[in-house]
Amino acid sequence: MSTTSQLLVSRLNPEVVAFLSTPVKMFIGGQWVDAAHHETFTTRDPGTGEELAQVASGTAEDIDHAVTAARHALRTSGWPRMRANDRAVILHRLADLVDKNAAILAELESLDVGKPYAQAIGGDIPSFSATLRYYADLSVNIRQREPIAVKGHEAYSALFPAGVAAFIIPWNFPFLLLGWSLGPSLAAGCTVVVKPAEDTPLSTLYVTKLMQEAGVPDGVVNVVPGFGETAGAALAAHPGINRMGFTGSPEVGRKVAASCGANLVPVKLELGGKGAAVLFDDIDVDRTARALAGAITLNTGQVCCTATRWLVHESIWDEFVNRSIGYLNSVRIGHGLAQDTGMGPVVSQKQQRRVLGYIEKGRKEGASALMAGGAADVSGSPGGFYVKPALLTGEPDNICAREEIFGPVAYLMPFRTEEQAVELVNRSAYGLANSVWSNDLERARRVAESLVAGNGWINAHNLFPQGVPYGGTNLSGFGGGVNAPSTLFDYLRSQSIVRPTG
Ligand code: ADP
Repeated sequence: MSTTSQLLVSRLNPEVVAFLSTPVKMFIGGQWVDAAHHETFTTRDPGTGEELAQVASGTAEDIDHAVTAARHALRTSGWPRMRANDRAVILHRLADLVDKNAAILAELESLDVGKPYAQAIGGDIPSFSATLRYYADLSVNIRQREPIAVKGHEAYSALFPAGVAAFIIPWNFPFLLLGWSLGPSLAAGCTVVVKPAEDTPLSTLYVTKLMQEAGVPDGVVNVVPGFGETAGAALAAHPGINRMGFTGSPEVGRKVAASCGANLVPVKLELGGKGAAVLFDDIDVDRTARALAGAITLNTGQVCCTATRWLVHESIWDEFVNRSIGYLNSVRIGHGLAQDTGMGPVVSQKQQRRVLGYIEKGRKEGASALMAGGAADVSGSPGGFYVKPALLTGEPDNICAREEIFGPVAYLMPFRTEEQAVELVNRSAYGLANSVWSNDLERARRVAESLVAGNGWINAHNLFPQGVPYGGTNLSGFGGGVNAPSTLFDYLRSQSIVRPTG
């Protein structure tokens, strides 16, 4: 924190300054502890490039302590055997505390990820508390025992918490995804070990304070920050976990699934995407251009399900491109905590290089730039990792049309017929989310159903209403998705009990 720009520090919440001023410890068995090897790593403010905090750097030893603590809590904390209603009371209390401390959490999230404060306080933080409340309420309304009508027997099935649920979280929506992970698993009565991303561990560590205040028993939630290859890999390979939820890249997802497979641990993979938006000729061009400019700049394009390929009917191409450029040019790029920032930096220098590298490779492969993109200068933040929005166009096999860039870059392609559009979208190896834009709702539904993905949206992009399953297929993952009523059951195991009566 000492090196973060003084101007910013003077405006920060004193609680945030205090939290960042000493090395942030990990949270195991209800205690804040140093890493077993006493090592720390640096988390940076991507808006300035400067150090935000030192954080305890977990390794396999810490992961083992955390899993042991979570297993101990399964036996001793009372959490798994508590009536669902009693757990729900605690989860509601935690949701209320998160709302009460939203300004602190949003500031931490904005500083650590780079996202605009308004997005954090209006989106990420309330999504966490809403998810907790949703699953808390759902859990009290399911039947724990269900009779089974079979001849000659008395039979029923019973649901029990699955055990220890482990989560490996990425850096783009750390707090929101923490909520999506904790909501169903805690409501089901599991105990939990979380490995947040090394770029963005702060909000996850801060909220453990609120968990204690809410009355979540010690050992029920354990957080081990650290690097993927060490702490993450150790968690995925630990034989003491019963469920794994991984959100991240397909490359790492494969490794995590392989480790879990070796221990026969069920795994949920939420991987990347290369979402498309298909724009027919009967749309409101201006409204759609504005919506897609919003989608590709949301979280600086670091959104796995966002619209990265824009398929535009040839008859509206010119008007749509012009309006999109207009909207994108008007997005104010700046520090997440600066007023009026519409788009913050990307999360790290590595990510900035990745985005700029993709644009360069795409152009070398023949793509032309409708909007060139490139590094952005933000006055007062010379060390920040800022990029400008970019629009490319070209052949469908261009690298920028195929691979996930994770930045504010869209690849545009014209189409003439519905069949052509569907074929272009379905070329992708990913299958996370696409949208169809048309006033002909029959056509919109037909096309939405033809696009192979876990999620299809009509006349909007990036929709996550609670209760609608969100997940991917093909390279985008498997395991049932998240956010649905069925997600709760992914953290419960079913057991049948039978007695002969005849
Ligand atoms: P990204 O490329 O977006 O950073 P990753 O898939 O690399 O996505 O990272 C997502 C999460 O997975 C992070 O918490 C990271 O630390 C973790 N991770 C990275 N490598 C591994 C690994 N080999 N095993 C387990 N977790 C990992």
